[in-house]
Amino acid sequence: MSSEAVDPALVAGRLRAAARIDLGAIEGNVRRIREIVGPSQVMAVVKADGYGHGLLESARAALAGGADWLGVAFVEEALALRAAGVESRLMCWLATPGEQLTKAVLADVDLSASAAWMVDEIAAAAMEAGKEARLHLKVDTGLSRAGAAIADWPQLVEAALHAQSRGVVRNVGVWSHLAHGDDPQNPVMDAQIQQFNEAVDVAQRAGITPEVRHLANSGGALHRPDARFDLVRAGIAVYGLAPAPNVAHPDDLGLRPAMTLTARLALTKSVPAGTGVSYGHRYETRDATTLGLVPLGYADGIPRAAGNAAEVLVRGAETSARRTIAGAVCMDQFVVDLGAVNDGAFMAGDEVLLFGPGDDGEPTAEDWAAALGTISYEVVTRIGPRVPRVYSE
Ligand SMILES: *Cc1c(COP(=O)(O)O)cnc(C)c1O
Repeated sequence: MSSEAVDPALVAGRLRAAARIDLGAIEGNVRRIREIVGPSQVMAVVKADGYGHGLLESARAALAGGADWLGVAFVEEALALRAAGVESRLMCWLATPGEQLTKAVLADVDLSASAAWMVDEIAAAAMEAGKEARLHLKVDTGLSRAGAAIADWPQLVEAALHAQSRGVVRNVGVWSHLAHGDDPQNPVMDAQIQQFNEAVDVAQRAGITPEVRHLANSGGALHRPDARFDLVRAGIAVYGLAPAPNVAHPDDLGLRPAMTLTARLALTKSVPAGTGVSYGHRYETRDATTLGLVPLGYADGIPRAAGNAAEVLVRGAETSARRTIAGAVCMDQFVVDLGAVNDGAFMAGDEVLLFGPGDDGEPTAEDWAAALGTISYEVVTRIGPRVPRVYSE
Protein backbone atom coordinates (compact mmCIF):
# COMPACT_ATOMS: atom_id res chain seq x y z
CA MET A 1 0.00 0.00 0.00
CA SER A 2 1.36 3.41 -0.86
CA SER A 3 2.12 5.59 2.13
CA GLU A 4 1.98 8.75 0.03
CA ALA A 5 -0.77 11.14 1.03
CA VAL A 6 -2.59 11.33 -2.28
CA ASP A 7 -6.26 11.70 -2.95
CA PRO A 8 -7.13 8.37 -4.57
CA ALA A 9 -10.02 9.88 -6.53
CA LEU A 10 -7.60 12.37 -8.03
CA VAL A 11 -5.04 9.70 -8.87
CA ALA A 12 -7.69 7.50 -10.44
CA GLY A 13 -8.99 10.53 -12.32
CA ARG A 14 -5.66 10.98 -14.04
CA LEU A 15 -5.08 7.34 -14.87
CA ARG A 16 -6.09 5.77 -18.16
CA ALA A 17 -7.78 3.01 -16.20
CA ALA A 18 -7.83 1.88 -12.59
CA ALA A 19 -9.41 -0.58 -10.22
CA ARG A 20 -10.38 1.51 -7.23
CA ILE A 21 -10.32 -0.60 -4.09
CA ASP A 22 -12.30 0.53 -1.05
CA LEU A 23 -10.34 -0.91 1.87
CA GLY A 24 -12.91 0.43 4.30
CA ALA A 25 -15.46 -1.78 2.57
CA ILE A 26 -13.25 -4.86 3.00
CA GLU A 27 -12.74 -4.03 6.67
CA GLY A 28 -16.47 -3.42 7.16
CA ASN A 29 -17.42 -6.60 5.32
CA VAL A 30 -15.23 -8.70 7.59
CA ARG A 31 -16.72 -6.99 10.63
CA ARG A 32 -20.18 -7.77 9.27
CA ILE A 33 -19.31 -11.42 8.58
CA ARG A 34 -18.03 -11.76 12.14
CA GLU A 35 -21.29 -10.30 13.44
CA ILE A 36 -23.27 -12.87 11.47
CA VAL A 37 -21.21 -15.99 12.17
CA GLY A 38 -20.02 -15.31 15.74
CA PRO A 39 -18.95 -17.02 17.90
CA SER A 40 -17.39 -18.93 15.01
CA GLN A 41 -14.04 -17.51 13.93
CA VAL A 42 -13.48 -15.98 10.50
CA MET A 43 -10.74 -16.84 8.04
CA ALA A 44 -10.52 -14.15 5.35
CA VAL A 45 -9.51 -15.83 2.09
CA VAL A 46 -7.05 -13.62 0.19
CA LYS A 47 -5.83 -16.05 -2.47
CA ALA A 48 -5.47 -14.98 -6.11
CA ASP A 49 -4.22 -11.52 -5.18
CA GLY A 50 -7.15 -11.01 -2.83
CA TYR A 51 -9.64 -11.96 -5.57
CA GLY A 52 -7.98 -9.26 -7.68
CA HIS A 53 -8.16 -6.61 -4.93
CA GLY A 54 -4.51 -6.91 -3.86
CA LEU A 55 -3.06 -9.62 -1.60
CA LEU A 56 -1.40 -7.56 1.08
CA GLU A 57 -3.83 -4.65 1.11
CA SER A 58 -6.82 -6.98 1.36
CA ALA A 59 -5.13 -9.00 4.09
CA ARG A 60 -4.39 -5.92 6.18
CA ALA A 61 -7.91 -4.54 5.74
CA ALA A 62 -9.41 -7.92 6.65
CA LEU A 63 -7.28 -8.12 9.79
CA ALA A 64 -8.33 -4.57 10.70
CA GLY A 65 -11.92 -5.79 10.41
CA GLY A 66 -11.22 -8.55 12.90
CA ALA A 67 -10.36 -11.57 10.75
CA ASP A 68 -8.96 -14.28 13.03
CA TRP A 69 -7.20 -16.13 10.23
CA LEU A 70 -6.06 -15.59 6.65
CA GLY A 71 -6.36 -18.28 4.01
CA VAL A 72 -4.65 -18.74 0.64
CA ALA A 73 -4.41 -21.53 -1.89
CA PHE A 74 -0.66 -21.72 -2.54
CA VAL A 75 2.55 -21.72 -0.51
CA GLU A 76 3.94 -18.74 -2.46
CA GLU A 77 0.93 -16.64 -1.50
CA ALA A 78 1.41 -17.50 2.16
CA LEU A 79 5.13 -16.74 2.04
CA ALA A 80 4.46 -13.40 0.33
CA LEU A 81 2.21 -12.42 3.23
CA ARG A 82 4.83 -13.46 5.79
CA ALA A 83 7.58 -11.64 3.88
CA ALA A 84 5.47 -8.48 4.08
CA GLY A 85 5.24 -8.84 7.84
CA VAL A 86 1.76 -10.34 8.26
CA GLU A 87 1.85 -12.37 11.48
CA SER A 88 -1.73 -13.62 11.81
CA ARG A 89 -2.72 -17.25 11.71
CA LEU A 90 -2.41 -18.29 8.12
CA MET A 91 -3.38 -21.42 6.24
CA CYS A 92 -2.61 -22.60 2.73
CA TRP A 93 -4.25 -25.65 1.24
CA LEU A 94 -3.04 -26.66 -2.20
CA ALA A 95 0.40 -28.13 -2.91
CA THR A 96 1.87 -30.72 -5.25
CA PRO A 97 4.67 -33.22 -4.41
CA GLY A 98 8.06 -31.63 -3.84
CA GLU A 99 6.97 -28.08 -3.06
CA GLN A 100 8.87 -25.88 -0.58
CA LEU A 101 6.95 -26.94 2.51
CA THR A 102 9.95 -26.42 4.78
CA LYS A 103 9.74 -22.70 4.20
CA ALA A 104 6.05 -22.80 5.00
CA VAL A 105 6.66 -24.64 8.28
CA LEU A 106 9.41 -22.18 9.23
CA ALA A 107 7.04 -19.30 8.45
CA ASP A 108 4.28 -20.69 10.71
CA VAL A 109 1.95 -21.43 7.82
CA ASP A 110 -0.70 -24.08 8.54
CA LEU A 111 -0.80 -26.80 5.90
CA SER A 112 -3.43 -29.22 4.63
CA ALA A 113 -3.22 -32.90 3.79
CA SER A 114 -5.73 -34.88 1.75
CA ALA A 115 -3.62 -38.03 1.54
CA ALA A 116 -1.10 -39.97 3.64
CA TRP A 117 1.75 -39.12 1.25
CA MET A 118 1.18 -35.42 1.93
CA VAL A 119 1.35 -36.07 5.67
CA ASP A 120 4.73 -37.70 5.00
CA GLU A 121 5.91 -34.70 2.94
CA ILE A 122 4.81 -32.29 5.64
CA ALA A 123 6.47 -34.45 8.32
CA ALA A 124 9.70 -34.46 6.31
CA ALA A 125 9.50 -30.67 5.93
CA ALA A 126 8.99 -30.33 9.68
CA MET A 127 12.05 -32.51 10.36
CA GLU A 128 14.10 -30.36 8.02
CA ALA A 129 12.78 -27.19 9.61
CA GLY A 130 13.39 -28.53 13.09
CA LYS A 131 9.93 -27.37 13.95
CA GLU A 132 6.48 -28.89 14.42
CA ALA A 133 4.15 -28.46 11.43
CA ARG A 134 0.54 -27.45 11.95
CA LEU A 135 -1.72 -29.73 9.98
CA HIS A 136 -5.37 -29.59 8.86
CA LEU A 137 -6.74 -32.90 7.61
CA LYS A 138 -9.12 -32.56 4.72
CA VAL A 139 -12.01 -34.89 4.05
CA ASP A 140 -14.01 -34.94 0.84
CA THR A 141 -17.66 -34.67 1.89
CA GLY A 142 -19.06 -34.40 -1.62
CA LEU A 143 -17.30 -31.73 -3.68
CA SER A 144 -15.01 -34.39 -5.16
CA ARG A 145 -12.14 -31.95 -5.38
CA ALA A 146 -9.42 -32.04 -2.68
CA GLY A 147 -9.84 -34.10 0.50
CA ALA A 148 -9.58 -37.78 1.30
CA ALA A 149 -12.46 -39.90 0.03
CA ILE A 150 -14.59 -41.11 2.92
CA ALA A 151 -13.25 -44.64 2.42
CA ASP A 152 -9.65 -43.37 2.77
CA TRP A 153 -10.33 -41.03 5.70
CA PRO A 154 -9.44 -43.44 8.55
CA GLN A 155 -6.11 -44.16 6.86
CA LEU A 156 -5.31 -40.43 6.57
CA VAL A 157 -6.25 -39.95 10.21
CA GLU A 158 -3.93 -42.82 11.21
CA ALA A 159 -1.03 -41.39 9.20
CA ALA A 160 -1.54 -38.00 10.83
CA LEU A 161 -1.71 -39.51 14.33
CA HIS A 162 1.46 -41.44 13.66
CA ALA A 163 3.26 -38.25 12.56
CA GLN A 164 1.95 -36.48 15.64
CA SER A 165 3.24 -39.26 17.91
CA ARG A 166 6.69 -38.65 16.45
CA GLY A 167 6.39 -35.01 17.49
CA VAL A 168 6.76 -33.62 13.97
CA VAL A 169 3.19 -32.48 13.27
CA ARG A 170 0.30 -31.22 15.34
CA ASN A 171 -3.18 -32.01 14.06
CA VAL A 172 -4.90 -28.69 14.56
CA GLY A 173 -7.74 -28.88 12.04
CA VAL A 174 -10.29 -31.11 10.38
CA TRP A 175 -11.91 -29.55 7.37
CA SER A 176 -13.83 -29.89 4.12
CA HIS A 177 -15.38 -27.71 1.42
CA LEU A 178 -18.95 -27.20 0.17
CA ALA A 179 -20.24 -27.81 -3.34
CA HIS A 180 -23.31 -25.54 -3.21
CA GLY A 181 -22.31 -22.29 -1.55
CA ASP A 182 -24.43 -20.48 -4.15
CA ASP A 183 -27.50 -22.60 -3.32
CA PRO A 184 -27.69 -22.90 0.46
CA GLN A 185 -30.88 -24.98 0.62
CA ASN A 186 -29.63 -27.63 -1.80
CA PRO A 187 -30.02 -31.09 -0.21
CA VAL A 188 -26.37 -31.82 -1.03
CA MET A 189 -25.56 -29.17 1.58
CA ASP A 190 -27.37 -31.21 4.26
CA ALA A 191 -25.60 -34.36 3.15
CA GLN A 192 -22.19 -32.65 3.30
CA ILE A 193 -22.81 -31.26 6.79
CA GLN A 194 -23.81 -34.73 8.00
CA GLN A 195 -20.84 -36.36 6.27
CA PHE A 196 -18.54 -33.79 7.88
CA ASN A 197 -19.93 -34.44 11.36
CA GLU A 198 -19.33 -38.15 10.87
CA ALA A 199 -15.76 -37.61 9.64
CA VAL A 200 -15.03 -35.38 12.65
CA ASP A 201 -16.36 -38.16 14.90
CA VAL A 202 -14.09 -40.71 13.23
CA ALA A 203 -11.07 -38.43 13.73
CA GLN A 204 -11.95 -37.65 17.34
CA ARG A 205 -12.57 -41.29 18.24
CA ALA A 206 -9.16 -42.11 16.78
CA GLY A 207 -7.56 -39.55 19.07
CA ILE A 208 -7.45 -36.26 17.18
CA THR A 209 -8.62 -33.18 19.08
CA PRO A 210 -8.87 -30.43 16.46
CA GLU A 211 -8.60 -26.79 17.50
CA VAL A 212 -10.78 -25.91 14.53
CA ARG A 213 -13.33 -27.79 12.49
CA HIS A 214 -14.19 -25.86 9.33
CA LEU A 215 -16.47 -26.48 6.38
CA ALA A 216 -18.16 -23.30 5.17
CA ASN A 217 -17.18 -20.84 2.46
CA SER A 218 -19.03 -17.49 2.23
CA GLY A 219 -22.30 -19.07 1.12
CA GLY A 220 -22.31 -21.66 3.87
CA ALA A 221 -21.16 -19.12 6.42
CA LEU A 222 -23.83 -16.53 5.70
CA HIS A 223 -26.77 -18.77 4.88
CA ARG A 224 -26.27 -22.02 6.84
CA PRO A 225 -25.69 -21.64 10.58
CA ASP A 226 -25.30 -25.42 10.83
CA ALA A 227 -22.26 -25.27 8.52
CA ARG A 228 -20.28 -22.77 10.60
CA PHE A 229 -18.55 -25.04 13.14
CA ASP A 230 -15.51 -23.36 14.78
CA LEU A 231 -14.32 -21.37 11.78
CA VAL A 232 -15.65 -20.18 8.42
CA ARG A 233 -13.51 -19.46 5.36
CA ALA A 234 -14.99 -16.37 3.74
CA GLY A 235 -13.69 -15.17 0.39
CA ILE A 236 -16.17 -13.50 -1.93
CA ALA A 237 -18.16 -11.91 0.92
CA VAL A 238 -14.98 -10.20 2.18
CA TYR A 239 -14.93 -8.30 -1.10
CA GLY A 240 -18.60 -7.37 -0.72
CA LEU A 241 -20.06 -9.67 -3.35
CA ALA A 242 -22.93 -12.07 -2.75
CA PRO A 243 -22.09 -15.78 -2.63
CA ALA A 244 -25.66 -16.75 -3.48
CA PRO A 245 -26.99 -13.88 -5.64
CA ASN A 246 -30.31 -15.66 -6.20
CA VAL A 247 -30.87 -15.67 -2.45
CA ALA A 248 -29.53 -12.30 -1.26
CA HIS A 249 -27.80 -9.23 -2.66
CA PRO A 250 -24.84 -7.56 -0.95
CA ASP A 251 -27.20 -4.90 0.46
CA ASP A 252 -29.44 -7.53 2.06
CA LEU A 253 -26.38 -9.00 3.77
CA GLY A 254 -24.91 -5.67 4.88
CA LEU A 255 -21.96 -6.08 2.53
CA ARG A 256 -20.39 -3.51 0.22
CA PRO A 257 -18.61 -4.29 -3.05
CA ALA A 258 -14.98 -3.15 -2.72
CA MET A 259 -13.87 -2.89 -6.34
CA THR A 260 -14.83 -0.20 -8.86
CA LEU A 261 -13.31 -0.67 -12.29
CA THR A 262 -12.90 2.63 -14.13
CA ALA A 263 -11.33 3.96 -17.30
CA ARG A 264 -11.33 7.22 -19.23
CA LEU A 265 -12.46 7.62 -22.80
CA ALA A 266 -9.43 7.73 -25.10
CA LEU A 267 -11.40 9.12 -28.07
CA THR A 268 -14.88 10.06 -29.22
CA LYS A 269 -15.97 10.52 -32.83
CA SER A 270 -19.06 10.84 -34.98
CA VAL A 271 -19.80 8.10 -37.49
CA PRO A 272 -22.67 7.53 -39.94
CA ALA A 273 -25.43 4.95 -39.75
CA GLY A 274 -24.40 1.47 -40.83
CA THR A 275 -20.81 1.72 -39.57
CA GLY A 276 -19.26 -1.63 -38.62
CA VAL A 277 -17.52 -1.51 -35.25
CA SER A 278 -14.43 -3.39 -33.98
CA TYR A 279 -12.99 -6.70 -35.22
CA GLY A 280 -15.36 -8.71 -37.33
CA HIS A 281 -17.89 -5.88 -37.36
CA ARG A 282 -20.01 -7.79 -34.89
CA TYR A 283 -21.77 -4.49 -34.17
CA GLU A 284 -23.15 -2.04 -36.70
CA THR A 285 -24.46 1.45 -35.87
CA ARG A 286 -28.16 1.80 -36.54
CA ASP A 287 -28.14 5.60 -36.86
CA ALA A 288 -25.56 8.33 -37.14
CA THR A 289 -23.94 8.25 -33.73
CA THR A 290 -20.97 8.99 -31.49
CA LEU A 291 -18.54 6.21 -30.63
CA GLY A 292 -16.40 6.21 -27.49
CA LEU A 293 -13.14 4.29 -27.13
CA VAL A 294 -12.37 2.64 -23.77
CA PRO A 295 -8.72 1.65 -23.15
CA LEU A 296 -9.28 -1.72 -21.44
CA GLY A 297 -9.27 -5.08 -23.18
CA TYR A 298 -9.03 -8.79 -22.70
CA ALA A 299 -5.36 -8.46 -21.76
CA ASP A 300 -6.66 -6.55 -18.75
CA GLY A 301 -9.20 -9.23 -17.90
CA ILE A 302 -12.23 -7.84 -19.70
CA PRO A 303 -13.71 -11.03 -21.13
CA ARG A 304 -13.93 -11.09 -24.91
CA ALA A 305 -17.42 -12.49 -24.39
CA ALA A 306 -18.42 -9.10 -22.93
CA GLY A 307 -18.69 -7.74 -26.48
CA ASN A 308 -22.36 -6.97 -27.29
CA ALA A 309 -23.21 -8.27 -23.82
CA ALA A 310 -21.97 -6.32 -20.78
CA GLU A 311 -22.87 -2.71 -19.97
CA VAL A 312 -20.75 0.20 -18.77
CA LEU A 313 -21.67 3.66 -17.49
CA VAL A 314 -20.13 6.61 -19.35
CA ARG A 315 -20.18 9.88 -17.43
CA GLY A 316 -19.98 13.06 -19.48
CA ALA A 317 -19.92 16.58 -18.12
CA GLU A 318 -23.71 16.84 -18.18
CA THR A 319 -25.11 13.41 -18.95
CA SER A 320 -24.48 9.80 -18.09
CA ALA A 321 -25.25 6.90 -20.36
CA ARG A 322 -25.33 3.21 -19.61
CA ARG A 323 -24.31 1.42 -22.79
CA THR A 324 -23.64 -2.12 -23.92
CA ILE A 325 -20.11 -2.74 -25.23
CA ALA A 326 -20.33 -2.38 -29.03
CA GLY A 327 -18.76 -5.28 -30.89
CA ALA A 328 -15.72 -7.36 -29.99
CA VAL A 329 -13.56 -6.59 -26.97
CA CYS A 330 -9.98 -6.28 -28.29
CA MET A 331 -6.73 -6.93 -26.45
CA ASP A 332 -6.35 -3.36 -25.16
CA GLN A 333 -9.60 -1.58 -25.93
CA PHE A 334 -13.28 -1.71 -26.71
CA VAL A 335 -15.89 0.65 -28.13
CA VAL A 336 -19.22 1.94 -26.86
CA ASP A 337 -21.97 3.46 -28.98
CA LEU A 338 -22.89 6.63 -27.11
CA GLY A 339 -25.94 7.35 -29.29
CA ALA A 340 -27.14 10.50 -31.01
CA VAL A 341 -25.86 12.93 -28.39
CA ASN A 342 -25.12 16.62 -28.68
CA ASP A 343 -21.68 17.57 -29.89
CA GLY A 344 -19.33 17.60 -26.92
CA ALA A 345 -21.73 15.72 -24.60
CA PHE A 346 -18.99 13.10 -24.25
CA MET A 347 -15.32 13.81 -24.69
CA ALA A 348 -11.99 12.05 -24.42
CA GLY A 349 -11.09 11.97 -20.74
CA ASP A 350 -14.64 11.34 -19.54
CA GLU A 351 -15.01 8.67 -16.92
CA VAL A 352 -16.28 5.17 -17.70
CA LEU A 353 -17.44 2.93 -14.85
CA LEU A 354 -17.37 -0.71 -15.88
CA PHE A 355 -18.64 -2.03 -12.58
CA GLY A 356 -18.78 -1.00 -8.94
CA PRO A 357 -21.14 -0.94 -5.97
CA GLY A 358 -23.87 0.56 -8.17
CA ASP A 359 -24.14 3.87 -6.29
CA ASP A 360 -24.01 6.01 -9.43
CA GLY A 361 -26.06 3.75 -11.63
CA GLU A 362 -23.07 1.77 -12.84
CA PRO A 363 -23.41 -2.00 -13.33
CA THR A 364 -22.22 -4.31 -10.56
CA ALA A 365 -19.81 -7.23 -10.90
CA GLU A 366 -22.91 -9.38 -10.46
CA ASP A 367 -24.54 -7.66 -13.48
CA TRP A 368 -21.42 -8.49 -15.50
CA ALA A 369 -21.52 -12.07 -14.27
CA ALA A 370 -25.17 -12.38 -15.31
CA ALA A 371 -24.43 -10.89 -18.74
CA LEU A 372 -21.51 -13.28 -19.25
CA GLY A 373 -22.96 -16.47 -17.81
CA THR A 374 -20.34 -16.62 -15.07
CA ILE A 375 -19.99 -15.66 -11.40
CA SER A 376 -18.87 -12.38 -9.85
CA TYR A 377 -15.78 -14.18 -8.51
CA GLU A 378 -14.41 -14.51 -12.04
CA VAL A 379 -15.28 -10.94 -13.01
CA VAL A 380 -13.19 -9.33 -10.25
CA THR A 381 -10.43 -11.93 -9.97
CA ARG A 382 -9.42 -11.85 -13.61
CA ILE A 383 -8.74 -8.09 -13.70
CA GLY A 384 -5.06 -8.22 -14.60
CA PRO A 385 -1.84 -6.65 -13.34
CA ARG A 386 -1.82 -4.02 -16.12
CA VAL A 387 -4.69 -2.28 -14.35
CA PRO A 388 -3.36 -0.20 -11.45
CA ARG A 389 -5.09 -0.63 -8.11
CA VAL A 390 -5.85 2.63 -6.35
CA TYR A 391 -6.59 2.20 -2.66
CA SER A 392 -8.79 4.26 -0.41
CA GLU A 393 -9.66 3.69 3.23
C1 LIG B 1 -11.66 -20.07 -2.37
C2 LIG B 1 -11.99 -20.93 -1.20
C3 LIG B 1 -12.79 -20.45 -0.15
C4 LIG B 1 -13.55 -19.15 -0.23
O1 LIG B 1 -14.74 -19.36 -0.94
P1 LIG B 1 -15.83 -18.17 -1.13
O2 LIG B 1 -16.94 -18.83 -1.82
O3 LIG B 1 -15.16 -17.13 -1.95
O4 LIG B 1 -16.16 -17.69 0.23
C5 LIG B 1 -12.95 -21.24 0.97
N1 LIG B 1 -12.35 -22.45 1.05
C6 LIG B 1 -11.60 -22.96 0.05
C7 LIG B 1 -10.99 -24.30 0.18
C8 LIG B 1 -11.42 -22.22 -1.12
O5 LIG B 1 -10.68 -22.74 -2.11
